[in-house]
Amino acid sequence: MERQGTRAYDKLIFEISSPGRIAYSLPDSDVPERPLGELLPREQLRAKPAELPEVSEFDIVRHYSRLSQMNYGVDTHFYPLGSCTMKYNPKINEDMARLAGFGRLHPMTPAASAQGALQLMYDLGLALAEISGMDAVSLQPAAGAQGELSGVLMIRAYHRSRGEKRTKVLIPDSAHGTNPASTALAGYEVIEVKSDAEGAVDLGDLERHLGPDVAAFMITVPNTLGNFEPRVVEIAELCHAKGAQVYMDGANLNAILGITRPGDLGFDVCHFNLHKTFTTPHGGGGPGSGPVGIKAHLEPFLPTPVIVKQDDTYGFDWKRPKSIGKLQAFWGNFGMLVRAYTYIRTMGADGLRRVSENAVLNANYIMKRLEAHYDVAAPGPCMHECVLSARRQKKLGVTAMDVAKRLLDLGFYAPSTYFPMIVEEALMIEPTETESKETLDAFCDAMIQIARETETDPRVIHAAPLTTPVRRLDQTRAAREPALRWSRPAGP
Ligand SMILES: *Cc1c(COP(=O)(O)O)cnc(C)c1O
Repeated sequence: MERQGTRAYDKLIFEISSPGRIAYSLPDSDVPERPLGELLPREQLRAKPAELPEVSEFDIVRHYSRLSQMNYGVDTHFYPLGSCTMKYNPKINEDMARLAGFGRLHPMTPAASAQGALQLMYDLGLALAEISGMDAVSLQPAAGAQGELSGVLMIRAYHRSRGEKRTKVLIPDSAHGTNPASTALAGYEVIEVKSDAEGAVDLGDLERHLGPDVAAFMITVPNTLGNFEPRVVEIAELCHAKGAQVYMDGANLNAILGITRPGDLGFDVCHFNLHKTFTTPHGGGGPGSGPVGIKAHLEPFLPTPVIVKQDDTYGFDWKRPKSIGKLQAFWGNFGMLVRAYTYIRTMGADGLRRVSENAVLNANYIMKRLEAHYDVAAPGPCMHECVLSARRQKKLGVTAMDVAKRLLDLGFYAPSTYFPMIVEEALMIEPTETESKETLDAFCDAMIQIARETETDPRVIHAAPLTTPVRRLDQTRAAREPALRWSRPAGP
């Protein structure tokens, strides 16, 4: 699993540019050339040509092939990032998304000429509703965070339609950062609810905060400590008794497919991350998809348009006066919907259940193999991910960040670090169901090696990573002052 071909920082495409070099050959034009000034308004023309890189075909192919190998991804490495469900992206999904009838369909194609695509979306909505026990699903949100925002906006519209003024949303202190962010964006005050010693919701604290001003309680199940929230049904009942809606962050659905359903547990709203549970690629900032499911009483507030079926014809329903409105361009990230639909149909109900059984088995296997070497954040067994703490290592000068960096040298992507924030020196490991026992063992061996090195030779850990194109970066500066644009260096 050693990385190959690691080398000093590659040059930028601009830096290998040489004037006059080109990567293509075209036949001479056989139509008369006209000056650009005749084709475009003069004021829209550049004063001088854009400074684009000039390279040969070899240069450009090698440059981008090398760049593609400088990163870690599920196709090259085990990727145990917790809470992210970095599972295999089946190649059949890619084939289906590239079918010309899907891949080349223009989003403005009239519904009458896009019946197959609409049927796929309609059926995917039904499948997700069945999987989650919800009554309706909107496929529009582009990510989990946008699913949260739309869910909270529907809850807000629901309370308003009943003439109720509720201003607060309760969120456990173990929550993912998007939960308070999307709630605040929807105009609510965020109130933090404490976790108990086991990492579960502190019911006493929840009850103290539940009042007539609370619009909703939002919680991740299984929770971000990798445990199933033991009193989740009781929690939903407590909230409902006070007129609050309950929202389930479904990012961790990979643990419970076919085993239990948010709708059956009492949730009113639940979002899905197709790029987590349903094998669509995470895409390096590219398209995600975060459909949101709701119970029947929230249906009038669904984002428009809603895809409907009448007789055997599919169409868009825009006439929904209580809708929270349209959320983004066109109809959602359609390519992701094709991939998720393909996955669900490939797996079937039994297959989906086995997904979760094996995801949970794999996480518990890792926890058992590592529990003698690292502290465990919450008593097991865990669900689909396990949270360890490097607090024992920290006393010897090795932090969770150091462990993560050393793993890169040993050929593994790092687990999530410092999340959830309620765990000191957290290392959150999610193996997913798609990894073999051999891969899990190799990863555990590397983690155990690092625990030993902490005691015998921490220098090798502090020097890591040595095998990556760049070493330890200034992460704050990288986030605050990203260099996104090349400019010609000053000088002669
Ligand atoms: C990933 C994640 C989110 C946000 O989903 P995005 O698709 O990244 O916007 C929310 N909650 C939890 C628990 C998550 O893991």
